[in-house]
Amino acid sequence: MNKTIDIQAAVAIAAAEAMAAKTQGTFGVGGVLLDGAGNVLQSMHNNVVRQGLVFDPTAHGERQLVDWYFAERAKGTPLPPPCELTIVTSLDPCCMCTGAILEAGFNVVVAAPDAKAGINYDGAASFTALPQPLQQLAGKRFAYPSVRGASEYARLPSGATPKSFFIGKSISEATQALCSLVFESTSAEVMRLLHAGDDAALLDPASLPLDHVVVRALRRRYPDALTYRCAPHAPDAGLAPFLQAAMEQDKRDGGQGDAAALLDAFGNLLLCMPGQLASSVIRTPFMECTRQYAQLRYELMAAADAPLQDEIKRYLGHPKHGTFVLAIGPDAGAASFMTLGAYGSTMEGALPENNPAQFQYVRPAMPQAELQALCRAMPPLYRNIIQVRPTQVADRALVAAIG
Ligand SMILES: [Zn+2]
Repeated sequence: MNKTIDIQAAVAIAAAEAMAAKTQGTFGVGGVLLDGAGNVLQSMHNNVVRQGLVFDPTAHGERQLVDWYFAERAKGTPLPPPCELTIVTSLDPCCMCTGAILEAGFNVVVAAPDAKAGINYDGAASFTALPQPLQQLAGKRFAYPSVRGASEYARLPSGATPKSFFIGKSISEATQALCSLVFESTSAEVMRLLHAGDDAALLDPASLPLDHVVVRALRRRYPDALTYRCAPHAPDAGLAPFLQAAMEQDKRDGGQGDAAALLDAFGNLLLCMPGQLASSVIRTPFMECTRQYAQLRYELMAAADAPLQDEIKRYLGHPKHGTFVLAIGPDAGAASFMTLGAYGSTMEGALPENNPAQFQYVRPAMPQAELQALCRAMPPLYRNIIQVRPTQVADRALVAAIG
């Protein structure tokens, strides 16, 4: 097992992962998970895009490392508690990864900044993008080591103190520059790919025969797919039994009884998922729902020729044209912040003008005004471009049914 006791050596591993991500054609970001003595437990890179197709909008390096940890523990691998472990990442964590890291309890060492989506986007290490109770926690967990030099990449240390096993406590200017440049060199192209084919007119999957490849794939993931339909973007009481069934399942699986549904642009129910919280504390219903939908599209597309790919994209459109419906709205906790961030990673850009209420919830967990303020404090990508703004469903009968 590799051991690294210098921050520089750990960042160099993360940078090599970031380069591997770039060659895969996805966002150039990587990370490494170290135990309390500096042993390398695992390294991973971004996996949002594979083979030129969107694989999973939540497959960031840090989020995958957190899930890897819980999956290993579930298999019986003896691993120390997260508070003893450190994730070293080439790029400042986005809101999803920050929520996941704080919810799970890991420490973080960050190389390059991300002025658009990073949790420390303003470089102040005061974490005002987080809900108040989480700001102090991030201050104790997120370290930004010094980068010595005179270029734009140089910086003074800020944030938390890295774990004491690190002997070398700074990042070289060249490695810091590599972490920044490899991400910048991929960002625009991956964003373009995420929205490729978005302009084609959508087709209604409810019009397809039951043996069509799209319908069969949907129902393998969710047997009740296409059995409920509402007016576009206006979920009504008819959605309640589907949410309730997933909420019950979520409770049985160790969750708090939440659920997340995805309706398409026509109002068809595509998926309604519970979480998988018994396997990992970050597999919340929204995470499961957005991942299942992306992977469903990926599997169909990867197996299709170009004309069929085009057809699949039109029957299973980008989720920004549909509606995500959470049974329980976000609160000020780390798991909800992860959900808001993962929602941002799923949208990745501005919402269509004709779909301002893409993100809806049934039962509020905090007053709407407070939730809006929380979203307005998020880093620029989320507050200015995506404009993350969950709103309560309009249908009172649905609210009454979920209680
Ligand atoms: Zn992330």
